[in-house]
Amino acid sequence: MGTYSHSRLSTFEQCPRKYKFKYVERFDTGDRVSVESFLGKIVHQALERLYELVTYGKIWSEEELLKFYDDSWEKQKPIELVIRDDDLNEDHFRDRGRKMLSDYYQAYHPFDQDRTVALERNVVFNLDDDGKYRIRGIIDRLAVKPDGTLVIYDYKTARTIQSQVNLDEDRQLALYQIAVKQLWPDRDKIELVWHYLAIPEKRTSERADVDLDKLVDETIRLIREIEQARIDDNFPTKETRLCSWCEYMSFCPAKIHQLQADEQAGELRDDEIVKAIDRLVEIKEYFAALVEEEQTIKKQLADYAKLNGLTVLSGTNKNVNIRFWSQYRPRFAKLTEGKAEEKKRFVDFLVETEMIDQVFSYNAQGFNSFVTKAKYNPAYRDRLFEMIEHVDCAPTVTIRNKTG
Ligand code: SF4
Repeated sequence: MGTYSHSRLSTFEQCPRKYKFKYVERFDTGDRVSVESFLGKIVHQALERLYELVTYGKIWSEEELLKFYDDSWEKQKPIELVIRDDDLNEDHFRDRGRKMLSDYYQAYHPFDQDRTVALERNVVFNLDDDGKYRIRGIIDRLAVKPDGTLVIYDYKTARTIQSQVNLDEDRQLALYQIAVKQLWPDRDKIELVWHYLAIPEKRTSERADVDLDKLVDETIRLIREIEQARIDDNFPTKETRLCSWCEYMSFCPAKIHQLQADEQAGELRDDEIVKAIDRLVEIKEYFAALVEEEQTIKKQLADYAKLNGLTVLSGTNKNVNIRFWSQYRPRFAKLTEGKAEEKKRFVDFLVETEMIDQVFSYNAQGFNSFVTKAKYNPAYRDRLFEMIEHVDCAPTVTIRNKTG
């Protein structure tokens, strides 16, 4: 059975499939590193170096601390730093780390609140007497207060702070307390401290032996569950809002279809939908304005041509032909009141004169030709002309190539 860490246990609790990707299949996600985890790493290194020098009696200035941080950032920057928020860039995150260190420096300088006894200390310890269930971890800083209390420190760079209830049940530092008790059995007072550097705020908690015994039982149960999942190869996906930060999302069976669908939809992400809609509205409004301008220009050209008795106007490279035309149409076509009655009178007339099939087979242009070319029985001319009218139509304006 392997040795477990707090983050390994947490990964299984978060999503068994993610656990399989990471600890069973050991999937390689390449050189991509999230900016948040990179920032956390560099801030931890800076604090480690700061306290290491303190143990030698050297106190860095704030500028020296920040220079170490800046240099480490530059030297260790990965090939691809993943920044999920489009509105932020690398400098925003680097500055955030500087601010955390600066605030911490000003709050704790000259760093004599306690005496550091270990930094980034690796611990491996047993949960049971047989050594079957083993845990390993790294303690950010271990210190002794003037009253002899041992303090286990953890530095957090995330921007969220846990509630006191959650901290009093936190597994990570409580597991480290078990390790510390095994290493220093004579120390009976141990304090757990979290520094939320981004807030900035410090939180503390203490655990009694009974709490630690309960934690050991729960942790052993969880390890057995993971071992059973491995035997059964049963690592189901567990979708939560944390999936957005999952480095295995593009391989995940629960997400792959969704990602493909997003790609087919033009690779729009959720946060791009509003922008896309705004752009679509802009385009529609732009085209509507162009159409309106086109109609206005056509009318102006037609008015000019009519006034001057012209049918062709010349542009730089093209001509515009203007055709003035009129046509016959049934009177009911333009009526708003009494339209139904007038239409019925017209249809009755066509039925009576047996012209209905002929007329109804025409479109507007065909009907005009029917009238002007007198394709009807002349005996009905007067009655027909009572029910139709001759109207001027909007001039047709078309662009033509210049000839000659
Ligand atoms: S994307 Fe979500 S469901 Fe898939 S492995 Fe990651 S955490 Fe699990």
